[in-house]
Amino acid sequence: MVDLHVFFFPAMAHGHMIPILDMAKLFASRGVHSTIITTPLNAPCYAKGVQKSNDLGFQMSIKILEFPKVDGLPEDCENADQIPSPAMLPVFFAATRMLKDQIEQLLEEFRPNCLVADILFPWATDSAAKFNIPRLVFHGSGLFASCAEGQMRLHRPFKNLINDSDEFFVPNIPHKVKLCLSQLAPHHRTEEKTEFTKMLAEARESELKSYGVIVNSFYELEPDYADHYRNVLNRRAWHIGPLSLCNRSLEEKAQRGKQAAITEDECLTWLNSKSPNSVVYICFGSVGKFPSKQLHEIAIGLEASEQQFIWVVRKGTNDKETEDWMPEGFEERMIGKGLIIRGWAPQVMILDHEAIGGFVTHCGWNSTLEGIAAGVPMVTWPLFAEQFYNEKLITDVLQIGVAVGAKEWVIGTGGNIKRVAVETAVRSIIVGEEAEERRNRCEGLKEMAKKAVEEGGSSYLDLDALIQELSSYPSS
Ligand code: UDP
Repeated sequence: MVDLHVFFFPAMAHGHMIPILDMAKLFASRGVHSTIITTPLNAPCYAKGVQKSNDLGFQMSIKILEFPKVDGLPEDCENADQIPSPAMLPVFFAATRMLKDQIEQLLEEFRPNCLVADILFPWATDSAAKFNIPRLVFHGSGLFASCAEGQMRLHRPFKNLINDSDEFFVPNIPHKVKLCLSQLAPHHRTEEKTEFTKMLAEARESELKSYGVIVNSFYELEPDYADHYRNVLNRRAWHIGPLSLCNRSLEEKAQRGKQAAITEDECLTWLNSKSPNSVVYICFGSVGKFPSKQLHEIAIGLEASEQQFIWVVRKGTNDKETEDWMPEGFEERMIGKGLIIRGWAPQVMILDHEAIGGFVTHCGWNSTLEGIAAGVPMVTWPLFAEQFYNEKLITDVLQIGVAVGAKEWVIGTGGNIKRVAVETAVRSIIVGEEAEERRNRCEGLKEMAKKAVEEGGSSYLDLDALIQELSSYPSS
């Protein structure tokens, strides 16, 4: 077998960087030389993981590209969470397109055997082809969402609907799943051609031309959809997750992504004082920021639910940095009962703690899978992207969650969810017979996830198969 060297090139957003770092570590732990490609201000997020992997005797490295300067983008904006407004997203992606020449220089210099590049870099398939190496795609979604989205694009079951509340079924998938018009991305509904939608169309095309797709999921979680993806949508796919499970030590679980706004000790001391399954963890991913009005509703709903909580609070970029969202006396009343983290939380460490009994999530795929791997039932509060599909997987297919009732595809507002909806959903995820049944189902999935990544498990074997195939490329 040849010594494999694989380049990993994640999009500059934590929801992509975190799982791709885990993926690169996983490849390295199986004897592959893994190189992460990134930009100067994102490099520190990888440094510890790479160092730790090398300390264990594996081979990992980082290569740094200069982030292109473009008009309209603030200086030092190298990550999606620093983009001042959603309207600037296309400018940001246009800037990343300019990394092509630099990547090709690296491919020329180091001659890796494969390029694993994010779906948001459609041009990477052609770059890999110039050097006769396979390009694998990572898009960060689960299989259910990929299948649902694929079928929606083919059949457009909503095309004759007008009102936001008009409902339709996702066509041609193994389960009956209903959505309403307002849960679709605006560009999906209108078919308007913008720079962003052109980039998405290119991404889909480049995925079809690529060697295949690496999926952060495991076969037993979505078997119907793993089969559907391969056999109906005709994609070559390897599911090798949950990737977060490659983080074994407390330190690795606590130090993913950005620097946490709370120390491990403080967080664990608080959690250790709570009984099992008694705390709700609330977090809306790496970019979810809510306006004061929505935070206020959450605070009142949480208090009324009478449940203990850890709440990761990030305010909208346009809000004044005040605590104007906080109900009078809230923090004092919540001492010992609720912990607020203002900034980045050590999410996987928190979810893995036995005190956590529920997770209010925006249904980003990483958070969804991290919740599943930790055996935690969820309150679903999708916001945008493929999160509405993930909600349906959690609530309707796996039956391990309760919907808060989000009906609107939104970036930056929270969807105007009322305090009563928060109170009801939070209480029902912790208390009652149905909560117990959900918890049991979660325990089953947690065990399956663990088995999948252990030696001989489905994800372990799928990664083996992929590494074998890459080793014998191009004859494979
Ligand atoms: N995350 C974290 N701490 C935070 C917020 C997010 O560790 O305070 C991590 C989380 O564990 C997950 C990723 O950031 O791995 C977010 O990815 P996801 O797909 O859930 O959502 P996105 O940020 O892409 O919307």
